[in-house]
Amino acid sequence: MDKIHDLQFLQEKIEELKHDGVYRELPVNTGPCDAMITLNGKEVINLSSNNYLGLANHPRVKRAAIEAIEKYGVGAGAVRTIVGNMDIHEKLDEVLSKFKREEAVMVFQSGYMCNAGTIQAVTDKGDLIISDELNHASIIDGVRLSKADKAVFRHSDMNHLEEILKEKRNLYKNVLIITDGVFSMDGDIAKLPAIVELAEKYQALTYVDDAHGSGVLGENGRGIVDHFHLHGKVDFTIGTLSKAIGVIGGYVAGKKVMKEWLSHRGRPILFSTALPPASVGAIIESVTMLMESNEYTEKLWDNARYFKSKLVSLGFNIGKSETPITPIFVGDEAKTMLFSKTLLENGVFVSGIVFPTVPKGTGRLRCMISAGHTKEQLNLAVETIYTVAKKLNII
Ligand SMILES: *Cc1c(COP(=O)(O)O)cnc(C)c1O
Repeated sequence: MDKIHDLQFLQEKIEELKHDGVYRELPVNTGPCDAMITLNGKEVINLSSNNYLGLANHPRVKRAAIEAIEKYGVGAGAVRTIVGNMDIHEKLDEVLSKFKREEAVMVFQSGYMCNAGTIQAVTDKGDLIISDELNHASIIDGVRLSKADKAVFRHSDMNHLEEILKEKRNLYKNVLIITDGVFSMDGDIAKLPAIVELAEKYQALTYVDDAHGSGVLGENGRGIVDHFHLHGKVDFTIGTLSKAIGVIGGYVAGKKVMKEWLSHRGRPILFSTALPPASVGAIIESVTMLMESNEYTEKLWDNARYFKSKLVSLGFNIGKSETPITPIFVGDEAKTMLFSKTLLENGVFVSGIVFPTVPKGTGRLRCMISAGHTKEQLNLAVETIYTVAKKLNII
């Protein structure tokens, strides 16, 4: 074998990662995603999942998945535009549009695919996309696939956004402003009312990726648009079905004509097989449960407030989080990773987040609170975090 086919060029890059101290092994969970998980063979408190409402392993949701398999089998068999569009997929779009209180919803195979497919489909040459600098990677990739021009505004800086609009609006046909709803590494909420106001003033379209807000914010988890009472004022609202909803998938909610267009030009709809029936059945059940009761979202917020206030009273810096996403700022990258590793050894799994996911020198632990945690588990997690932080001189 010569060097090329040994993939030595990849081996060299891997060595670089190891040299920089950012090489990692994937942790292996040997059971369901729950408040307690068995990671690499050891039972630990899980403070790292996006399973906000504890639905990923809920008996009702599992039963719905099994029933869908019994009726429809395990695969959709084709893309939606050929013969992969089962009545259960149609029902899911319908249930979600009711939940989101929007005219129409188009479901994709993931949140990532939804951004990758929707942004390029609704923009064109001669348009401008204006994007928050902290937007999620799937938005960045979606923007890259678009033929439109691009501009970036400083994080949640409405003055900067307006400067760009003032300077560039008249040079373009359509202008699309894109923001995350809840920023995933800091837990702060987008200034959506101000963005909508600017969009109205400058005749721009709005696009909010509410991956971390759907199932979390608003009435019964309806999301950021509901939270700010902006129904009908945001053109494209993206949500995931893989976080709070507990399964897999993504969707865009908006006007009927948007859905019509995406069914012709949304490339993941045309070129990638539809979601499997088990997932669709499970999602319908999860969303139905949310519409029936606010007990899941109430429990989530109760847990999040409890956990955050404990950390703050112990002197931890949790930044400007306004949601269950709770960062604990450390700063130094190596120290952040050591903090996370030592916590795991002591029975708490919380991932360390460092550059390039966040800016250099802003290393942090990112605690994800769920409705599935008990107060006892949260107490034990806080105690362990405090003890380990003391030992490592972080606090
Ligand atoms: C997680 C996330 C996604 C991707 O969602 P998946 O369903 O996991 O593909 C997209 N956008 C944002 C803002 C996210 O946080």
